[in-house]
Amino acid sequence: MIIVVRSQADSDERARLIEVLGRMLGTLRPLTVTRMREREVITLDDSVLDALALDELRRQSAVEEIVQVQTPYKLVSRAFQAVDTVVTVGEGRDCEPVTIGAGTPVVMAGPCAVESREQLLTTARAVKTAGAQILRGGAFKPRTSPYQFQGLGLEGLELLAEARALTGLPVITEVMEPALVETVAQYADVLQIGARNMQNFPLLLAAGRQSRGKPVMLKRGLSSTIEEWLLAAEYIVAAGNPNVILCERGVRSFDPQTRNMLDLACVPLLHQLTHLPVIVDPSHATGRRDLVHPMSRAGIAAGAAGLILEVHPDPNVALCDGKQSITPQELHTIVQETRLMAQLMGGAFLAEQVA
Ligand code: PEP
Ligand code: MN
Repeated sequence: MIIVVRSQADSDERARLIEVLGRMLGTLRPLTVTRMREREVITLDDSVLDALALDELRRQSAVEEIVQVQTPYKLVSRAFQAVDTVVTVGEGRDCEPVTIGAGTPVVMAGPCAVESREQLLTTARAVKTAGAQILRGGAFKPRTSPYQFQGLGLEGLELLAEARALTGLPVITEVMEPALVETVAQYADVLQIGARNMQNFPLLLAAGRQSRGKPVMLKRGLSSTIEEWLLAAEYIVAAGNPNVILCERGVRSFDPQTRNMLDLACVPLLHQLTHLPVIVDPSHATGRRDLVHPMSRAGIAAGAAGLILEVHPDPNVALCDGKQSITPQELHTIVQETRLMAQLMGGAFLAEQVA
């Protein structure tokens, strides 16, 4: 249940509402107070409340509206918010702001990992020339083995800021620990939470509370259900950050031919379940350079709000994920094709929204 608090309610009326809720729920069931854009909302699991309790809540003067949402995720649900969330990236920074979820697909691209100044700046220029709008690059890398390259850390963040100043592209990079959320948000325009951390709850809360207004891109966990993924997004939104982008990057399967199995059906399904924008990562989903272009097409055709692609000037010498990294030339082709597909599909999208 989501209780929308009346904006003119005074502190006594609010306190009374919280007191009534506290009495109904007891001490073990949390209720979360969130400022969601202009509205203050209180979200709770209402399975324990009966009709009488509901009536009493409705009578509280601080209550503007009670929205009953049947799914376990509430604030991110389409049932609560019918209109699409549009996420603005890079506002107020030395770059060109980009909107995600506004109808035109956005391409984010860059190396898996920031390896050196030269590698990053060369790639950043190529990404800009290819027409992509956001630069990606990992500074803190969640590597399967402790003996693999772990990323440049803070130095990588500084290089990303330099690349932004040079190209005017906003940057996205991964944050792996709660204590680093504020630092990463100081440099990055979007915080990425990786597949391995999708259910790192302290990290989700920190990304909700301490991201300095920066959007968060939440990747789907290695074997996560759509409901688990949406509940992870709910943590971030309930903690105070409504700017969440979901990223489908494939899930574990039985077949080693591809790195993961790209679940494209989740894209139109998520459009029904949530108002958050969904983008597709064909690089991690397939693990194969030769499949990135066709699956980029497929992602856009499925209605994704954008793509995130790994690009390297010389994929064969990449320190991380070279096998799935495309060249700047291939990126150019994908960006061009994405634009054409968006034009072609524009009419269909509009028709769908009007219906
Ligand atoms: C990445 O995008 O660099 C990454 C590590 O991806 P994932 O978390 O999807 O494996
Ligand atoms: Mn990678």
